[in-house]
Amino acid sequence: MTTPYWVAGRPASSQDLVEVRSPHDGAIAGVTSNASAEDVERAVAAAHAVAGEFAVLPAHARAAALDHVSRRLAERADEVAALITAESGKPVKWARVEVARAVSTFRWAAEEARRFSGELQRLDTDPAAAGRLALVRRVPRGPVLGIAPFNFPLNLVAHKVAPALAVGAPIVVKPAPATPLVALLLGELLAETDLPAGSWSVLPVPNEVAGELAEDPRLPVVSFTGSGPVGYSILERVPRKHVVLELGGNAAAVVCPDWDDLDFAASRIATFAMYQGGQSCISVQRVYAHAQVHDALTQAVVAHVRKLGVGAPTDPATDVGPLINEAAARRVESWVDEAVAAGARVLTGGRRDGAVYEPTVLTDVPPGCKVVDEEVFGPVLVLEPVPTVEDAFDRVNASRFGLQAGVFTHDVRLAFRASTRLAVGGVIVGDVPSFRADQMPYGGVKESGTGREGVKAAMEDLTEQRVLVLTGL
Ligand code: NAD
Repeated sequence: MTTPYWVAGRPASSQDLVEVRSPHDGAIAGVTSNASAEDVERAVAAAHAVAGEFAVLPAHARAAALDHVSRRLAERADEVAALITAESGKPVKWARVEVARAVSTFRWAAEEARRFSGELQRLDTDPAAAGRLALVRRVPRGPVLGIAPFNFPLNLVAHKVAPALAVGAPIVVKPAPATPLVALLLGELLAETDLPAGSWSVLPVPNEVAGELAEDPRLPVVSFTGSGPVGYSILERVPRKHVVLELGGNAAAVVCPDWDDLDFAASRIATFAMYQGGQSCISVQRVYAHAQVHDALTQAVVAHVRKLGVGAPTDPATDVGPLINEAAARRVESWVDEAVAAGARVLTGGRRDGAVYEPTVLTDVPPGCKVVDEEVFGPVLVLEPVPTVEDAFDRVNASRFGLQAGVFTHDVRLAFRASTRLAVGGVIVGDVPSFRADQMPYGGVKESGTGREGVKAAMEDLTEQRVLVLTGL
């Protein structure tokens, strides 16, 4: 049976069928269809038409709908995780984590919808404004186009949909072509709510159509998560729109000489360099360890990496499965080969089998290699010693990206220093850069993007301030 897409809250389908196949074994995960031009138009027109009504829908109604989706995702968690695994090849252990995060993303959005209200500001601190008071309200900027990548096919769609619905902004969401099915399943749960029909649509469409949608003036906000080249090409097309870009990175961890539990650091680094094949924008790609701890850390990291289970994503013991397709694995292979040809040493891994790239640890990587300078988006980790922590901070900053950094230290002064010195959106102390809780602001600096996600931060981003000044008080 063909999985329907969702137009203004109603199921629909077209003749333009799309077969979604597992990158693991090519098995068909499901069949859906690309939204027809008429349906795309209906979805956008409905979002535009309902915007005024939706912006004033009471908070309790928006919160109830979001709570419903959270609850239903939890009830159907096993089925949803299995679908993520089937379409993306993500190991089921990580697919379950993703579903649990989406459950909390919708729950947080419900909670924030109840308390999100703006600010009361006294103005009488200035004699010229005596007797006046400002109410700073937050109103939706308008309907949102959400464009999502393949690597968290549920949670990154949730990060677009939940904050938009929480503030009363209609949303048209476009899932990644490789992984539309779980976003369409989310549509089933949204359809069970009382949200106004035009307030949401889930449209699988080819990239050219997504580009045209980005230009549609009826969708004044574009919230994009994906790669830099695509994100910046959208920004160039619509420089006057409010565009949120959540892009890539080559996240680093710093291990300071005071850190006493090297085995813990090594285990976290190994896990979060390789989880879901390194296909996370904040997976650990670079580690700068102080020379005092580097050798012991390296030995422990390699031991932990060798223990990771590589295999079928449906096996609950599997840590690392296939990349999204064989072309991605070939690209990673060529980048590792480039580093090795330039003098890098492979401490473990370094082989490819179809779409699976073996978890790989490199050291002595000379400057200028892509495995350090670019976003690998594969299970490849580069470990290098540094003479001082300040040198480590310089190495972290010597990147055109800046999403998050991890700093293993117990020294609170060093933690503050890292937060001041490191050009990133967030510093995680005592852990890897890959830590993310969905209520905290999350996003990047430099070429990792603009704007912030995380439920509350996204709600702020999707709204603008409107001031009401009261006089004669
Ligand atoms: P991608 O840029 O290839 O695709 C992202 C989305 O954009 C997909 O839905 C795709 O179909 C769509 N798209 C492609 N061309 C388009 C066009 N011309 N117009 C409009 N839409 C278009 O990225 P991907 O390979 O799916 O995802 C991996 C990337 O996403 C990595 O760089 C990763 O770091 C990044 N990412 C960032 C975050 C973050 O929060 N910062 C989170 C996850 C992934």
